[in-house]
Amino acid sequence: MILLDRVTKIYGRDAKPALNRVSLHIEPNEFVILVGTSGAGKSTLLKLLTCEERPTSGKIVVGGIDYDTLKEKHIPLLRRKIGVVFQDFKLLPQRTVFENIAFALEISGMTNRELKNTVPKVIELVGLVGKEKQFPHQLSGGEAQRVAIARAVVRQPKILIADEPTGNLDPRHSWDIVRLLEKINRYGTTVLLTTHNVDIVNRLKRRVITIDHGKVVSDQAQGSYRQ
Ligand code: ADP
Repeated sequence: MILLDRVTKIYGRDAKPALNRVSLHIEPNEFVILVGTSGAGKSTLLKLLTCEERPTSGKIVVGGIDYDTLKEKHIPLLRRKIGVVFQDFKLLPQRTVFENIAFALEISGMTNRELKNTVPKVIELVGLVGKEKQFPHQLSGGEAQRVAIARAVVRQPKILIADEPTGNLDPRHSWDIVRLLEKINRYGTTVLLTTHNVDIVNRLKRRVITIDHGKVVSDQAQGSYRQ
């Protein structure tokens, strides 16, 4: 499903590699936690997967798509297969919860009728029934992250990338979000989570890939994390 073969990314001409010959294989429906100190190369890895950045060398194949042969015009299609959520939610402030989630569907050409059918299902999945008409500033951090997750999964991506999704949340809301990611994973989506939260990593008992100075330094089936 996700395959990296000796992937290297060097940003500047004289810069050290942000990623250095990284090889990885992630199966469909896995739940993988990516850890590493700041600057280790986690974001670079995620940006290569979403094609925001291109590798300097090495091979990337996601869902059967070989990035070497991927044309610019096909990138939006690829991004539909990969949902992304961030630490800072990135919601549209002038739009309601419903509209924030519907927006992703509108731009992919879904009719109003289909939209009215699909969006409530996702709102229910993420536990936001009753909040449809609220605006982002009226939501708690945990609720805002649920909207971001709903928006990321509404087009049924094969992969969900959650880049520090709990970074702005208190422990209780953090765990709510992690449980929601697990639920989405159970429904058949591969989840790739980055976090600095040691408690989450150690209690989840999932595969943990540790990156340090651009290299994979450990890959454990039921990993733990020490800072
Ligand atoms: P992490 O997400 O683990 O904090 P990053 O992937 O952001 O790590 O960064 C890895 C290395 O690449 C760092 O040394 C960082 O300074 C460098 N880097 C990241 N993005 C860029 C960029 N756009 N241009 C130049 N260097 C970058």
